[in-house]
Amino acid sequence: MLILGFESSCDETGVALVDASGHATPRLLGHALHSQIAMHQAYGGVVPELASRDHIRRVLPLTDEVMAQAGLDLSAVDAVAYTRGPGLAGALLVGSGVACALAMALDKPVIGIHHLEGHLLSPFLSTDPPEFPFVALLVSGGHTQLMRVDGVGRYELLGETIDDAAGEAFDKSAKLLGLDYPGGPALSRLAQEGDPQAYRFPRPLMHSGDLDFSFAGLKTAVLTQVKKLAHARPEGPATLHLADPLTLGQKADVAASVQAAIVEVLVRKSLSAIDQTGLRRLVVAGGVGANARLREQLNAACARRGVRVHYPELHLCTDNGAMIALAAGLRVQAGLAAESLRQPAYRFDVRPRWPLAELSAGTV
Ligand code: ATP
Ligand code: MG
Ligand code: FE
Repeated sequence: MLILGFESSCDETGVALVDASGHATPRLLGHALHSQIAMHQAYGGVVPELASRDHIRRVLPLTDEVMAQAGLDLSAVDAVAYTRGPGLAGALLVGSGVACALAMALDKPVIGIHHLEGHLLSPFLSTDPPEFPFVALLVSGGHTQLMRVDGVGRYELLGETIDDAAGEAFDKSAKLLGLDYPGGPALSRLAQEGDPQAYRFPRPLMHSGDLDFSFAGLKTAVLTQVKKLAHARPEGPATLHLADPLTLGQKADVAASVQAAIVEVLVRKSLSAIDQTGLRRLVVAGGVGANARLREQLNAACARRGVRVHYPELHLCTDNGAMIALAAGLRVQAGLAAESLRQPAYRFDVRPRWPLAELSAGTV
């Protein structure tokens, strides 16, 4: 069964084709991605209206590229999948509109996929795929969650951030250091030159005993530190050029120290989730899962406890179409897409807000 998947929840247009025949892990036959990062950079963040328009511009050429990679015609597609939510409503509508129109034209079913389920299952496309059950650390731009995963569609939330996501903490700290949006990758590059112990930033909720996170206080701590180094007034506003007076070394030290704080909390809570569930496998997914220090520290801590850690391929950590086509393939194989397959609904409905827990054991 060939499934064409579309991702358009935020600022990446992704299209991919998987072969989900039989029960072998779905295989990627083609995959194309356009990132809008350069377009949004001038604004310091994603501009929803621009994002929607750019998805419209990119989605069909990317689809042609994917089919060319696979050496197949669109008529070979057996089902079409798209990101139904969560995400920006206008951006989601582009993917769902295209997916439904294409499926209708081909007279094939259409399957709406939860974006976080895509992230969560993305390590199944790696050379070292996990086995169920496992604990999942989902660390992205909008989410920070620990989950118990017993199978496709069987997700139990163990804990999550009560305010900012880990990716947001990276991005906001990076902005305070004058780095371009999205600052996560840039901050972690800069951190390589710095001393992670130069400044002692808070480790919020690290010893709270539960599996929740809090990262909002961290950006205030970074702001205070940057102001101090820049000799700016403590009560003054955070401005675009606040960090200009800092030397590169000072910026690198701040970057390394804030990264160390975020990573330490993520590692500690992941280990607590492992202990509490008694599971021996950890899956890390979402954009922050690309962070080298996080991978290093998790690998070391898990190796000491005999826990296996699985990651998506680096280029599949952030948003992409492959994870959406894959999630649809795994759902079809698990019999969890029965409704969509039986009675195609070309509704192009989207769910900008959609808790993953609502999916549990449900079919789509
Ligand atoms: P969500 O999936 O929650 O809707 P999103 O799709 O925007 O959010 P992702 O695409 O999974 O999130 O990840 C983007 C986030 O990952 C950004 O916050 C980005 O800064 C962060 N990120 C990417 N690479 C790195 C890295 N190497 N180190 C730290 N953060 C990173
Ligand atoms: Mg993105
Ligand atoms: Fe995402």
